Amino acid sequence: MSAIDTLINSTIRSDVRAAAGYHVADASGFIKLDAMENPYQLPHHLRDDLAQRLADVALNRYPVASYSTLKQRIVDKLGVPAGYDVILGNGSDELISILCMACATQDRRATALAPTPSFVMYQRSTQFAGMDYVGVPLKADLTLDLPAMLDAIAQHKPSLVFLSYPNNPTGNLFAEDDIVAIIKALDGFGLAVVDEAYEPFAQQTFMHRLPEFENLVVMRTVSKLGLAGIRLGYLSAAPRLLAELDKVRPPYNINVLTQVAAEFALDHLEVLNQQAADLRAARGDLMAALARLPGVEVFPSAANFILIRVPNSDDAYAKLLSRKVLVKNVSKMHSVLTNCLRITVSTPEENSTFLDAFAASQAA
Ligand SMILES: *Cc1c(COP(=O)(O)O)cnc(C)c1O
Repeated sequence: MSAIDTLINSTIRSDVRAAAGYHVADASGFIKLDAMENPYQLPHHLRDDLAQRLADVALNRYPVASYSTLKQRIVDKLGVPAGYDVILGNGSDELISILCMACATQDRRATALAPTPSFVMYQRSTQFAGMDYVGVPLKADLTLDLPAMLDAIAQHKPSLVFLSYPNNPTGNLFAEDDIVAIIKALDGFGLAVVDEAYEPFAQQTFMHRLPEFENLVVMRTVSKLGLAGIRLGYLSAAPRLLAELDKVRPPYNINVLTQVAAEFALDHLEVLNQQAADLRAARGDLMAALARLPGVEVFPSAANFILIRVPNSDDAYAKLLSRKVLVKNVSKMHSVLTNCLRITVSTPEENSTFLDAFAASQAA
């Protein structure tokens, strides 16, 4: 064993050493339909204005750690209820880590629970924080198995339950009543984290229901709305709870460029909202076109992506790749996703390029 192996074995945790890195496919030269990005940029005149704002930012200074202007704009524009504040994360990925760090304990193993398949960062962040993770399989139709969720909650007493609403990678919204039943089942010992990363496309939210439930946490991101590159997530919950979570947050976790860009984008929210509306319409068109292809099963979607089942997902994925179209092959994630592909909804042009390539892959 070399010196560096010895060093790594004596310093880095065994579960970290055993883990695989988070794999991101190299998409250069491809039509990129794998990562739920909004395909539209800001219009040119707004980009010019933004450039001026960014040029004026004092890069030599630390951010003002309260982030009060940006937070106030989020509260005012994004439906946060009166009396509620937000904390900000470097993407909602960081907020997931913050939740796990705040709940992981040394004295007893704390548990986080989520339906599975769901967003992979729930399991990764849970594990790296030193919590146990319990995944409760979805039913074959990809809906929530509420009795199994409630049993698992009674058995494991999780500190955190993550509910992606709508769910990634399946695209469906879990039934609102089922989520309420889970929030109530956690009353007194666990937090229900409703992850609304796709809220612009679902237009369904638990944000306004925060005052009903002290253990409800609503998490969102601007990534899927069209600002994935600036890395900004926000989370709201009861003020006392928020204050505890905020202790774990690194004080300057949002950089000044992100802060200014986000404030600017929120001043022009109608532009992003219109893009989301266009993508919702494109989603309907793409789902209808896919449903017309023989042998293709299209699952319901409230997100900016569509889950489909095909006769041979590996073959379809490879054929799309050979035509320079990158989608996500989720078929190996979980047995309920056998032969499934996840396709991000894009511009009408990119969607029809995908459709042509996909139809050819199915015909051949
Ligand atoms: C994309 C996604 C996120 C991550 O959002 P970032 O703010 O970009 O870190 C969180 N949750 C779900 C369910 C997602 O699909």
